[in-house]
Amino acid sequence: MKHEANVTATVGHLIDGRIVHEQGRAQPVFNPATGASNTSVELASTATVERAIASAAAAFPAWRDTPPLKRARVMMKLKNLLEQHADEIAALITAEHGKVLNDAHGELQRGIENVEFAMGVPELLKGEHSRNAGPGIDSWSEFQPLGVVAGITPFNFPAMVPLWMWPMAVACGNTFVLKPSERDPSSALRIAELALEAGLPPGVLNVVNGDKEAVDTLLADPRIQAVSFVGSTPIAERIYADGCKAGKRVQALGGAKNHAIVMPDADIANAVSAMMGAAYGSCGERCMAVPLIVAVGDDTAEAMIAGLKTAIAEMKVGPGTDNANDMGPLVTRPHFEKVKAYVDSGVAEGAQLLVDGRALRVKGHEEGYFMGPCLFDHVRPGMKIYQEEIFGPVLGIVRVKTLQEGMDLINAHEYGNGTCIFTRDGEAARYFSDHIQVGMVGINVPLPVPVAYHSFGGWKRSLFGDLFIYGPDGVRFYTRRKTITQRWPSAGVREGAVFSFPSHQH
Ligand code: NAD
Repeated sequence: MKHEANVTATVGHLIDGRIVHEQGRAQPVFNPATGASNTSVELASTATVERAIASAAAAFPAWRDTPPLKRARVMMKLKNLLEQHADEIAALITAEHGKVLNDAHGELQRGIENVEFAMGVPELLKGEHSRNAGPGIDSWSEFQPLGVVAGITPFNFPAMVPLWMWPMAVACGNTFVLKPSERDPSSALRIAELALEAGLPPGVLNVVNGDKEAVDTLLADPRIQAVSFVGSTPIAERIYADGCKAGKRVQALGGAKNHAIVMPDADIANAVSAMMGAAYGSCGERCMAVPLIVAVGDDTAEAMIAGLKTAIAEMKVGPGTDNANDMGPLVTRPHFEKVKAYVDSGVAEGAQLLVDGRALRVKGHEEGYFMGPCLFDHVRPGMKIYQEEIFGPVLGIVRVKTLQEGMDLINAHEYGNGTCIFTRDGEAARYFSDHIQVGMVGINVPLPVPVAYHSFGGWKRSLFGDLFIYGPDGVRFYTRRKTITQRWPSAGVREGAVFSFPSHQH
């Protein structure tokens, strides 16, 4: 298997510590900057996924009993290997996703931070202990691994989102089957190979590439104890329902429509720069992207528009392999068409298109899926471009009169992933963060993606399940509490039968 960005081989699976290929369904993987494909990804059959599950189940007993410190050491080696191979992994991300190399490095770095957090697993699994819970009785809680866990991940962070999941899961003593996005599968597979090199025993981490058939097999198999899913809301909702029905623990993170409130007292230049990155970085293909500005007051809207137009005029769009570019292409041709259709619908529904990126052509990359930044004014609730997640370089401005009016809009929206406020007023910011119905809030911070030692998640239809992903919630998600109560009767001291409920009454 070759590891250069220009892979020509078929992307297979990693099962029981080896790359395997099967004769079956496969589909092309495209380079979004050129529209060409010289790679294809195998789509695992049920039998292949079942082999991966069997491998993970067989690896579980020994791995569960491996001291946490030894599991942590694998994470330390993996962190070093990921840093050594960062250029190679970033190139794979860019070749299949399209994002600019610097951005790919940023994604990988945030993924590595989850590996760093998992290095602390001996401390994180220490549990709780109470001496003399009763006379001569001690009681403690410990956190035991679940068994075989599955992870299903989206295209937009092909390296980072898998790293949100499996390092903590395996550090906690579970074994894992990962199903990455079939649109950009190579970086997750390469990272799994590096995990083997770091000392992860065969079978502890398996990777199956595939589509619905692979996912359905994972959901139906009784050996899978828990499922972490990140992707779009309709799929998240179904995975949550089916997984729970099958008795599994499920966390399913879905889509988003993040709003940024800009107050009249905000530092407008700062808000403009922040919004440029938040709206157009990674071509808007981030679940924490901010595609809506809620401007409080017409003067605020006008000032933001003036600043954004100037900044957009200076933006460079082109292949992600050139770090001089601010924005690369969209991920696939169908996604490009979908985003374009959203812009068309915004115009048809009466929003004012101030900057139109639909006709952009990048010289020498005419077959690439490039779209320029788009900017709408007078976006209103009810319009498709307001309600739905576009996942493209499309920023809309909604005009409101008060902070409360803006907050009411956000609270009424079906999604509740991220939001932010730009202001110099501490009281307004405090009121906003206290009352907004959203899981991750930024105050003059456009992309409030929590660091690896906090946890990530949205509210409302952005997350199905109880626990956020990674960080402390990740430890809880991938472990099961067991509470043990113990007494060692002293020689010669024997209590008679006690029929009343044990308590501290006497
Ligand atoms: P997607 O839902 O199409 O795919 C996600 C995963 O589900 C992939 O592995 C895919 O193979 C699988 N899948 C797709 N259709 C399926 C089906 N019918 N049955 C079973 N499995 C299926 O999402 P995507 O387009 O890859 O990613 C973009 C979406 O992910 C956006 O909605 C974005 O907001 C969301 N996302 C959310 C977060 C978060 O943390 N909340 C993070 C990143 C991305």
